[in-house]
Amino acid sequence: MARYGMLININKCNGCYSCFLACRDEYEGNDYPPYSLAQPTEGKSWMKVIEKERGVTPKVKVDYIPVPCLQCSDAPCINKSPNGAVYRRPDGIVIIDPEKARDQREIISYCPHRLIYWNEEKDIPQKCTFCAHLLEKGWKEPRCIEACPSGALVFGDLDNPNSEISKLVASFKTEELNPAFNLKPNVRYIDLPKRFIAGEVVLGDHQSECALGIKVILTDGKESLDCKTDSFGDFEFDGLETSRKYTVRVEHKGYEPSEQEVVTYSDLNLGVIELIPDKKTTKKTNEKTTNRPAKKPSQKMSKKSIKRAGEKTRS
Ligand code: SF4
Ligand code: SF4
Repeated sequence: MARYGMLININKCNGCYSCFLACRDEYEGNDYPPYSLAQPTEGKSWMKVIEKERGVTPKVKVDYIPVPCLQCSDAPCINKSPNGAVYRRPDGIVIIDPEKARDQREIISYCPHRLIYWNEEKDIPQKCTFCAHLLEKGWKEPRCIEACPSGALVFGDLDNPNSEISKLVASFKTEELNPAFNLKPNVRYIDLPKRFIAGEVVLGDHQSECALGIKVILTDGKESLDCKTDSFGDFEFDGLETSRKYTVRVEHKGYEPSEQEVVTYSDLNLGVIELIPDKKTTKKTNEKTTNRPAKKPSQKMSKKSIKRAGEKTRS
């Protein structure tokens, strides 16, 4: 028997809401007993897309996080529900029985992720079913997966090592939404948004030029990352932990390094970091230039050059 799960790659999600619309199209006005009754025309959808904005102008990022029922392995909605109103199918899908759950508004509070919604018209709690009625008809995936144009959603059997989802889970670092709840969800994510540090580097003696290819090093005392500024002089480190102390160091030959300590309580824009020419290097260069013997007038000047030099003197 399969154990169904979903893998959601945030990097691939462009926020088109096709998954949301496919879910509404499948369930609005349509009953699929014994798994679900029609979704209300107004109210919450079972596949929601959270728009998450990070940073402050001018360094702003927007990510989209599609969130169905997370199909938890340790599901409090099952454990707390009386009379078996919420149960798990042998393939792992958690179902709210629309008949047994009728009038039990308290069931919506059993999901700490807040992914059970109350249907006022029918007096029942509802949520995503992984389109169980379609899987029984032979469909290989729910409607939201089929509708996603970017491949951000992958569905399949987590117990089959040859399934696409199992291979992806094995090769990527996957995460769960709200890990503090520790409910072992079978919906997992790749690249959930984290903290980022960004900034811009300029060279003090070339301020009108973009400082391309300047090395920026980020360290937390144990590990370090580095990157180079792009053609606008911008740099960025994404995927960082929250509330962690980092040192940001900018280095470039011939300039004094710049170093600052920051803590990622929020996303950080360090603004413009100006590198000042290194006085020692500049002094050495000047000394070299001063000590160099004066160049003797060239004995090999062409007639043309002599003529030009003469013309210059006359004027
Ligand atoms: S996400 Fe909520 S509704 Fe879904 S299985 Fe987990 S606890 Fe239950
Ligand atoms: S359909 Fe795919 S790309 Fe569009 S919002 Fe949903 S997950 Fe993201």
